[in-house]
Amino acid sequence: MVDTLPIDITRAKQSRITEVDFSNIPFGRVFSDHMFVADYDGTAWTNLRIVPYQPLQLSPANSALHYGQSVFEGMKAYKNTAGEVVVFRPLDNFHRLNRSAERMCMPPLPEEVFMNGLMELLKLDNQWVPDGENTALYIRPFIFATDNYIGIRASDTYTFMIFTCPVGAYYSEPVRVKIETHYSRATEGGTGAAKAAGNYAASLYPARRAQQQGYHQLVWTDSKTHQYIEESGTMNVMFVIDGKLITTPLSDTILAGITRDSVLTLAREWGYPVEERRIAVSEVIAAAKEGRLQEAFGTGTAATIAQIIQIGHEEQDYMLPPIAERKFSNRVFKALNDIKSGQAEDKWNWVYKL
Ligand SMILES: *Cc1c(COP(=O)(O)O)cnc(C)c1O
Repeated sequence: MVDTLPIDITRAKQSRITEVDFSNIPFGRVFSDHMFVADYDGTAWTNLRIVPYQPLQLSPANSALHYGQSVFEGMKAYKNTAGEVVVFRPLDNFHRLNRSAERMCMPPLPEEVFMNGLMELLKLDNQWVPDGENTALYIRPFIFATDNYIGIRASDTYTFMIFTCPVGAYYSEPVRVKIETHYSRATEGGTGAAKAAGNYAASLYPARRAQQQGYHQLVWTDSKTHQYIEESGTMNVMFVIDGKLITTPLSDTILAGITRDSVLTLAREWGYPVEERRIAVSEVIAAAKEGRLQEAFGTGTAATIAQIIQIGHEEQDYMLPPIAERKFSNRVFKALNDIKSGQAEDKWNWVYKL
């Protein structure tokens, strides 16, 4: 028997749940009663605790604020049709958090700290998991540097936290995207494969410019030639061209999405033709012009599938087929929901029960 680290629990004096209108929850602004915290003291993860959700006290010299040594995860808990709380593929998020941490020179987190912290937090705040169709409890685990030192080096100390937000029926409008051919999200040898805070700060300016031009988000291209598709916004991107599902292979410029992996797994299970390979922008544009681009969508935890309705490239906009005609992505969206809600068999053990 391995000793599990004890978690000290301080309950909120009063739950805030009665203040929340669950029929109208703005994404990411409503926080559940508690949060999980653990500290890395330079040698070990210690001081595991659950406390009421509250602000942090930080030194102005906190190194994460200055140099961005900070990584995060995003996943969801659901109520299945039997009313049980389930989490979708949390161990995959745990492993990815540690891969991100390694790239950012941060100490790995033991699986036990992540999973026990998560499970205890969800047990305590299980009332916060909404049960309406397409609703969920969004879970945000993250690690950040806590040395109070403004020299540039890896911090000796860190904090790991998890907090959660109920999210309403996330209906994502079909999006208009622009293929970005100047700015880059990630470069070879860079940090694009890590869910590292700074990547998202760097994407804001190009995204804002695209929004000013009337697009919702960008399709990123490779930083060397800008001729190959990488991701869309903060999602992986997939296309159906001539009846084949095509997506960019994983590399150090691509975030290894868990939704991406789930979609590819289901497609292969169904015998759908799948190609993980580089996709030239010119191939997508030619297919759009010739009416062979049947579907385009982003994949990620927030929306699961974000349909792309229009693609802008070099001052031209290309309209894609109506959402209702998109057989593959509509089928995969439903199949994933059915697995999460317990209405379909969970062949790959993706659903983790509390
Ligand atoms: C988080 C993220 C994704 C999607 O990952 P999921 O595990 O499917 O949520 C894709 N691309 C980027 C850049 C991301 O940050």
